[in-house]
Amino acid sequence: MMPKHVASLYETMTQQAAVDGRPAQLFTLRNTSGMTATFMDIGATWLSCTLPLENTDREVLLSYATMAQHNVQTAYFGATVGRYANRIANGHFTIDGTGYQVDKNQGGHTLHGGPSGFDKRRWTLKEHTDTVILFGLVSVDGDQGFPGELTATVRFELTENNGLEIQYVAECDKACPVNFTNHAYFNLMGAHTDEDCLAHSLSISADKFVPTNAEGIPTGELKSVEGTGFDFREIKTLKQDFLIDEEQKLANGYDHAFLLSELVTDGTAIAVRATSPDELVTLEVKTTKPAVQLYTGNFLAGEPARNGKHIIHQGFCLETECLPDAPNHPEWPGNSILHPSEQYNHTTTYQFVF
Ligand code: BGC
Repeated sequence: MMPKHVASLYETMTQQAAVDGRPAQLFTLRNTSGMTATFMDIGATWLSCTLPLENTDREVLLSYATMAQHNVQTAYFGATVGRYANRIANGHFTIDGTGYQVDKNQGGHTLHGGPSGFDKRRWTLKEHTDTVILFGLVSVDGDQGFPGELTATVRFELTENNGLEIQYVAECDKACPVNFTNHAYFNLMGAHTDEDCLAHSLSISADKFVPTNAEGIPTGELKSVEGTGFDFREIKTLKQDFLIDEEQKLANGYDHAFLLSELVTDGTAIAVRATSPDELVTLEVKTTKPAVQLYTGNFLAGEPARNGKHIIHQGFCLETECLPDAPNHPEWPGNSILHPSEQYNHTTTYQFVF
């Protein structure tokens, strides 16, 4: 049996057609402990994640319930984001001496792949079992201004020990910036709580973060977290140092990339750990990517919810990725340009402990 609100998504999400005139397709993965993860092909979007706690199934992902809501939301709830997650300053970058201008969609910059990013596409179903779903997408040469034809897959596997393992694979026939992420918003107390997420405890294995200007564009500095509100090396609540730094004030909270310690980017070490205020649920993030964007839902107020509207800071995102605007910072660690001879291949696991 699926939790009731998950079963009803199959009706509410498909009553209205998606952008291409056909209804979305939904798929639910389930493991033997009873955890579920539900996806749709539009945006290869993670729509729901329920954990079987002692007396109840707890929904820990923020989302919407209808296609009409999907079409108006601007928060990228659970979406697979590409070609380039996060911002590219002025939508401009240079590869091997050639300048490229990509489509802008936020204050003169390119956010999350441009106005028609991968979150808005219908992905093709390639494989579906009880615990695995694989979606594919072909993005034509020049899509949103990006060079080369890019072929991508995203594979989600719900493991027996309650992890959602995400694998991104891509190839491109011209050198192009590539940076995939999932834009899930978590509230480990449950998405339907009236409380914001700031009482969650968090630790991040990162010595440095990326300060940004008022438009979210990196200043170019990789700044030490020491002595700042960005120091999550010891576990603390999100609210403990909330808004104490100038960098946070410019972003209405945390909306910043942390450069992960190289020791935790093998895909198996715990890079980030978050625990619900009632301590019943812990989320551990493991990844092969160099960085994670912590975003505390600073612009969530009024965005559609399954049941009404979201409130500010209702959930937090842990977007594993390359550093923002990295194509314009070749001096930074991490590899933001995919060359035709290479394969982009990264994994991120959202491991739930409850
Ligand atoms: C960005 C935020 C943005 C949000 C939703 C995050 O990844 O860092 O600035 O508001 O996505 O678009």
